[in-house]
Amino acid sequence: MYRPKDSSKSPRFVGPRTFMRLENVRTTEDVDFAVIGVPFDTAASNRTGQRYGPQHIRDFSVLLRPYNPDQDINIFDYCSGVDYGDIDVIPGNIHATYDNIVDSLTPVLDNDITPVMMGGDHSISLGHLRAFHKKYGPVALIHFDSHGDTWDNYFGEKYMHGTPFRRAVEEGLIDTEHSIQVGMRGPLYGPGCIEDARDLGFEVITMREARKMGFDKVSERIRERVGTAKAFVSYDIDFLDPAYAPGTGTPEVGGPTSFEGLEFVRNLRGLDIKGFDLVEVLPTYDSGEITAVAASSVIFEMISLIAIQKRDSSS
Ligand code: MN
Ligand code: MN
Repeated sequence: MYRPKDSSKSPRFVGPRTFMRLENVRTTEDVDFAVIGVPFDTAASNRTGQRYGPQHIRDFSVLLRPYNPDQDINIFDYCSGVDYGDIDVIPGNIHATYDNIVDSLTPVLDNDITPVMMGGDHSISLGHLRAFHKKYGPVALIHFDSHGDTWDNYFGEKYMHGTPFRRAVEEGLIDTEHSIQVGMRGPLYGPGCIEDARDLGFEVITMREARKMGFDKVSERIRERVGTAKAFVSYDIDFLDPAYAPGTGTPEVGGPTSFEGLEFVRNLRGLDIKGFDLVEVLPTYDSGEITAVAASSVIFEMISLIAIQKRDSSS
């Protein structure tokens, strides 16, 4: 049983720093969830430096405590979790990196461990979805982002951080009928940027539509859409308003607060989620660790969902 160090006995500033002070072991024995860094950032279209995202999140995450009052669950009453370390990415070589991601995730998924990946730019999600497809077939995508990331190419390049979900649909990795994107906003190249995602089969709720519906209604809609499908959650930190997550590569104003961004994750309870990623944290632009606080808290809500799934499936 792997649990975090008890920060009421060992001060939380005592290192080395791992996610939530979990043990840094690469094992698939006696593990329910694994937090895994994927420090790849050479498919970003604007700012880079997301390669330092995973460690930046770990640095702040030592503040996390095991009990989630909003879900009334102590994660480690039901789960054993580890910090699995980082996947060896190949800077500048996205295809070799995708291969390494699939190779690294395969034993994790084969042992029914729920992985939570920390990026890295958003291109890495295509690697995650390839690995999930090998294990589960097409999965429902629940995608929080200010961008749809369904562009066809950037600078003629097909594998960039703005294209992973179009590639994933083309490769048959996504069960689009049960998939949904939430939060899209900001200036675009044309109306096609959102319509294309709908044409690919996604339901898309833009940020403006989400505000008008009310966020609780949006959460209801997500649950209806996904239903009982096996799902993957991809959370781009630029989903949050830059006031709450300045440390990212392509910020867009007019987004949700950090409270609202956490509620969206909490409201996924009950869905059959097989894995998560949290991407695009860029420490160089993070002032006062605001983005790291938000990102580590979003991951805390993700692992709380894993604990809830465990609890409810054993009762
Ligand atoms: Mn984005
Ligand atoms: Mn994105």
